[in-house]
Amino acid sequence: MPPLPVEKFGALAEQPNCHHVFTERIPGIDVSHDKAEALARLDKAHQGIRDAIGFGDWPLLTAQQIHGNKIAVADTPMESDKEFPGCDGVITNQRGTALGVYVADCCAVYMVDPKTPAVGIAHSGRKGTELGVVANTIEQMIKRFALAALPNCRHVFTQRIPGIDVSHDKAEALARLEKAHQRIRDATGFGDWPLLTAKQIHGNKIAFVDAPVESDKEFSGCDGVITNQRGVALGVYVADCCAVYMVDPKTPAVGIAHSGRKGTELGVVPSAITQMIERFGSDPANMIVQLSPCIRPPHYELDFAAEIVRQCRALGVKEIHDPAVCTACDLDRYYSYRAEKGKTGRMLALLGLNPAIAD
Ligand SMILES: [Zn+2]
Repeated sequence: MPPLPVEKFGALAEQPNCHHVFTERIPGIDVSHDKAEALARLDKAHQGIRDAIGFGDWPLLTAQQIHGNKIAVADTPMESDKEFPGCDGVITNQRGTALGVYVADCCAVYMVDPKTPAVGIAHSGRKGTELGVVANTIEQMIKRFALAALPNCRHVFTQRIPGIDVSHDKAEALARLEKAHQRIRDATGFGDWPLLTAKQIHGNKIAFVDAPVESDKEFSGCDGVITNQRGVALGVYVADCCAVYMVDPKTPAVGIAHSGRKGTELGVVPSAITQMIERFGSDPANMIVQLSPCIRPPHYELDFAAEIVRQCRALGVKEIHDPAVCTACDLDRYYSYRAEKGKTGRMLALLGLNPAIAD
């Protein structure tokens, strides 16, 4: 058999936890046609290479490639191949998932974060480079996967669940989502952890849990929960409001808060951080704060996410990650209270400390 028309790059080949390949010109295939036809003619050869390299049964995530700088994020398991419209790059922290771009003259840029681990790929030609597609990819890898990089906590942010009609009030929508949320809790390692939630009244009161808990509990009158207990899930439900994840990996301790316009005005996140400092001895300089997708201008008249970032900074938090994703902009992925006129579901944000692991 002739050698495969592929290249491998030394720096990436040295990384034990990732696979990569760059296919070359395939001999014997006439590709003097437009892109769609050329790709169709190359499909079989590319599939043969995917099979030979070990990508054969991995879902392949590609970008539509419009010479822009938008990045798709795959942060949940993917079952099948997918092309992300309007994007020029893809990032993922999921194992067994292939990211792909097609190039002829443009540069395919491979990005590997072996620690988290996470990978990204971008299509960067003259135009994409001017628009900073690679810088955007790296920025998204930092902003989306910062919590995943921490060994002593686990977290998840559920998206819109396909196939469930949630055009109802909150109680009914949550009841309809419950089974799907339980499945996600099971799949992400939260299944047998007690779930502590807040009643969420758009206030700034924080519940704290500094002793072991046995069962699920909702804290009335509260909009956030903090704990230094391991194996306990903290949760808030959001649709447009921001779920704010707070991690102090040193102590360790974690907190979660529901911060929309009103809660942000009342300082629910500063209230949570202050209590982590006072009750658990957390140092804000060690903390990592992650914001979830939430509604933003122009879909909302106020940028409360930016205010949350300012609040955290004012308390001395250095590492704050805001993905800058608007829920109302992407109803395929998210529920939006505003865009769906109050009759919609909720995303569930979960955060917890892993059981002690030997270092
Ligand atoms: Zn929007």
